Amino acid sequence: MLSTFNGKRERLRGFLACVFPGEEAYVKCIQCQSDDIKVIESRDVAEGQAIRRRRMCNSCGHRFTTYERLERPQLIVIKNDGKRELFNRAKLLAGLYQACEKTVVTSLELEKLVDSVEQELYSCGEQEVRSSAIGELVMDQLARLNEVAYVRFASVYRRFKDIASFEQELSLVKQGKHIAA
Ligand SMILES: [Zn+2]
Repeated sequence: MLSTFNGKRERLRGFLACVFPGEEAYVKCIQCQSDDIKVIESRDVAEGQAIRRRRMCNSCGHRFTTYERLERPQLIVIKNDGKRELFNRAKLLAGLYQACEKTVVTSLELEKLVDSVEQELYSCGEQEVRSSAIGELVMDQLARLNEVAYVRFASVYRRFKDIASFEQELSLVKQGKHIAA
């Protein structure tokens, strides 16, 4: 199941073809419509999420570039109130930045954390995922990264009812037993 776009209009989108991992897009020459196309050069772009290929038509010699983006299904998040929304990486990152303010956690570490959470979510193969499941994945990793950030994130996320449960969570983290409730 491949879709290929190599017309002028689509070129404006930046990514021309969508492929599944391990597959190569089927491409026709823009000039002569021949499908006898040679790949001259390939390289990963967008942190391995896309492949840029320089191609040449064997029939007419025309050269052009395609960008193939790995196709991922849209992930739907079911919120606690039952409402659904599209998974939003930027939103998750923003929440994490907030939790990590004035800590030693770097933005690269957070990007990696979100990467691995995303990987895990997509590898489940489910189209819908509960926001609580995402929260647990994040907290599990954040606890290993930074205690303060973890407690801040957890306090927003779990909405501690009172200061006692907050302190209990904090002491569990300090003992290395962050898996609570
Ligand atoms: Zn051609």
